[in-house]
Amino acid sequence: MNYTDHKLDVVVLGAGGAGLRAALGCSEQGLKTACVSKVYPTRSHTVAAQGGIGAALGNMGEDSWQWHMYDTVKGSDWLGDQDSIEYLCSNAVDSIVELEHYGMPFSRTEDGKIYQRPFGGHMTNNGKGDPAKRACAAADRTGHALLHTLYQQSLKNNVDFFNEYFAVDLLKDESNTICGLLAINIEDGSLHRFIAKMTILATGGYGRIFQSSTSAHICTGDGAGIALRAGLPLSDMEFIQFHPTGIYGVGVLISEAARGEGGVLKNNEGTRFMLEYAPNAKDLAARDVISRFISKEISAGRGCGPNKDYINLHLEHLDADMLSKRLPGISESVKAFCGRDISKEPIPVVPTVHYCMGGIPTNFKAEVLKPTNSDSEEICEGLMAIGEAACASVHGANRLGTNALAELIVFGRGAAIQAGQVINPTESNKMPSNESTQEIIDRLHSIKNNSGDISVGELREKMQKTVQKRFGVYRESETLKLGNDELLSMSKDLKHINVNDKSDVFNTDLVEALELHNLMQVAGSVGTSAEQRTESRGAHAREDFPERDDENWLKHTLYWGNSEDHRISHRPVRMTTLSNQISVIQPQVRVY
Ligand code: FAD
Repeated sequence: MNYTDHKLDVVVLGAGGAGLRAALGCSEQGLKTACVSKVYPTRSHTVAAQGGIGAALGNMGEDSWQWHMYDTVKGSDWLGDQDSIEYLCSNAVDSIVELEHYGMPFSRTEDGKIYQRPFGGHMTNNGKGDPAKRACAAADRTGHALLHTLYQQSLKNNVDFFNEYFAVDLLKDESNTICGLLAINIEDGSLHRFIAKMTILATGGYGRIFQSSTSAHICTGDGAGIALRAGLPLSDMEFIQFHPTGIYGVGVLISEAARGEGGVLKNNEGTRFMLEYAPNAKDLAARDVISRFISKEISAGRGCGPNKDYINLHLEHLDADMLSKRLPGISESVKAFCGRDISKEPIPVVPTVHYCMGGIPTNFKAEVLKPTNSDSEEICEGLMAIGEAACASVHGANRLGTNALAELIVFGRGAAIQAGQVINPTESNKMPSNESTQEIIDRLHSIKNNSGDISVGELREKMQKTVQKRFGVYRESETLKLGNDELLSMSKDLKHINVNDKSDVFNTDLVEALELHNLMQVAGSVGTSAEQRTESRGAHAREDFPERDDENWLKHTLYWGNSEDHRISHRPVRMTTLSNQISVIQPQVRVY
């Protein structure tokens, strides 16, 4: 076997906001840290994030982390783990101050404080007051500012970067304990074992199982596929967020910041329909709620355009100077993709796949859970997961805008703190067994040398069309079952894909084939999890089971296995808090 070994304290897989924050934190503590990424770090998907990072700084009005927590629990439709949510909201403020000290170029108020704007579902006074100004923003390019700040700090703090390396699978020692990962250097095809005392998965989401998504093409659920192959579960995969305002026909995101700055949604009668559906939060209700009502307006024939199949987002009534200062990116996107000037014409929008609430289950310390029974909180030694790849269950059944970036910095930082506590830098590394290494290499070779009759692109498109058609905003038993049957038959086709390029140098054909294997596993887990949850909660809207059913379904789904051989188990939602500064927020009817 021919490979290069790198011995480390920590290997972080992924250089988005979560991965970089964790790698930086580990390196700052003197841990020998490598960060492996299939793309150059600043091309990670975080760069696309627009509107802001949720943290109750209270710079532009009264706010508290307890109100932030209330909104997040309510936004999650009570499926969020309340200890994790407390950790997120109570640590968000310090994490933002740290970012400011790292040099992040936030927008500023007149008196020099970090600028904060309102966002959907974020309210004051435990949902009873006005919208909270809580989203800490760098114009509408917050992710760009965040990623560049963290990358520069990581370089300064000697994180060792392995850019354009594709991770294939986790390595295990003789006793089956995770001890790193194996990756290919995309540039020359060489194999590398990253042997580490802690492996942190920060591989982002899997929006690309859908045909139309705001996610980058690299969001292929590699971390989820890697976890399943290592015998670990995925949690709450049925909960996929549709953002209410993707540009019609293109899927490019128009951030909620547009509505935070005063934008409104209207149907073909010129009616602001959200006034009726969510009289308090109006156009700033949570995303699942607005997406459902947009779909309802369109189904009722009140959509706009010749085919009545979109809704208009109006910004023309707002001050043009404010639009160019606060929403420059959106102005450019609308010009580029619709040829329209947002200060003069409305933007045609439809709900578009945007965020994956489910992922690799963790506790609030970012340690990966491997529950052996429904009450167990057993962890998987040597492995953590953070960011969109993980399910720390701070978003439950529906994420509030700005809480993803907050999650990256809070749990990225938290994972580094936890790694610092459990790793002994003077101890020697556990070594991967030959068997574990060989198994990964054999799988890699068998995919590369496959010469079937289906192209990767063909099968991927077929899968994406099925997922788009069968697992949309509204779901019901028959279509879910159909989708799952179709996916099962496609998973058999995986054995017949053809990897044309057999060379070692920049073999993107092979990389796409490996990504497709992950996408297919993830798509199966989404469909199977959705079919078994016979209730409506958050982003999971069942036409045949329209009500939330706390008696039977106030629990997380765990999916284990693969498309052809899988099982489902459940784990209770954690209704406990970490401190006595807040009490558990009991389930209520969710209205905005
Ligand atoms: P990513 O940024 O996706 O990074 C994943 C990393 O993993 C990459 O470096 C990639 O190279 C690496 N990787 C993956 N697989 C492999 C592999 N096999 N081998 C090697 N490396 C691998 N959230 C907010 O809170 N506020 C916002 O304003 C906001 N705006 C958004 C706007 C858009 C258009 C979109 C789509 C999302 C937005 N979100 C926002 C959501 C948020 O941006 C994402 O959830 C978040 O950036 C994900 O970060 P991450 O670090 O988990 O993963």
